[in-house]
Amino acid sequence: MNEKVGSWIHTDKTFDATALEERMDNDKAEEIYELERCVECGCCVASCGTANMREDFVGAVALNRIARFMLDPRDNRKNKEYFEVIGTDEGIFGCMGLLACEDVCPKELPLQDQLGILRRKMGWTAVKNIFRRG
Ligand code: SF4
Ligand code: SF4
Repeated sequence: MNEKVGSWIHTDKTFDATALEERMDNDKAEEIYELERCVECGCCVASCGTANMREDFVGAVALNRIARFMLDPRDNRKNKEYFEVIGTDEGIFGCMGLLACEDVCPKELPLQDQLGILRRKMGWTAVKNIFRRG
């Protein structure tokens, strides 16, 4: 799952182990930490109607990872790049929105909010792609 959605910081910066770590705004760090609390237990996938019908659906666990990196100012990816990963029926457009995932998540992650945000962002990106193609 992590490889499928590119679950790491995508940046052109070269890591310098001798340099001081760049400080992040506290509110932003807390927002990221909220989603970083996922323990990848898979309960959200086991309870998910779409995942039960379609093996290729990435599930709330993966969508939450994307939402986490979208928040991270160190990640250089733009919406159109995230769209390449989750802008399909295997990703956010396969989600039926019945929220069994949030009901069973032992960490009480705000999956409803995050899935809604992703759906909106990826929906807008799809519309922009159509206009770009003319
Ligand atoms: S149920 Fe919650 S903690 Fe478990 S993998 Fe899904 S999002 Fe993460
Ligand atoms: S809301 Fe989406 S991800 Fe969550 S259980 Fe339903 S189909 Fe699966």
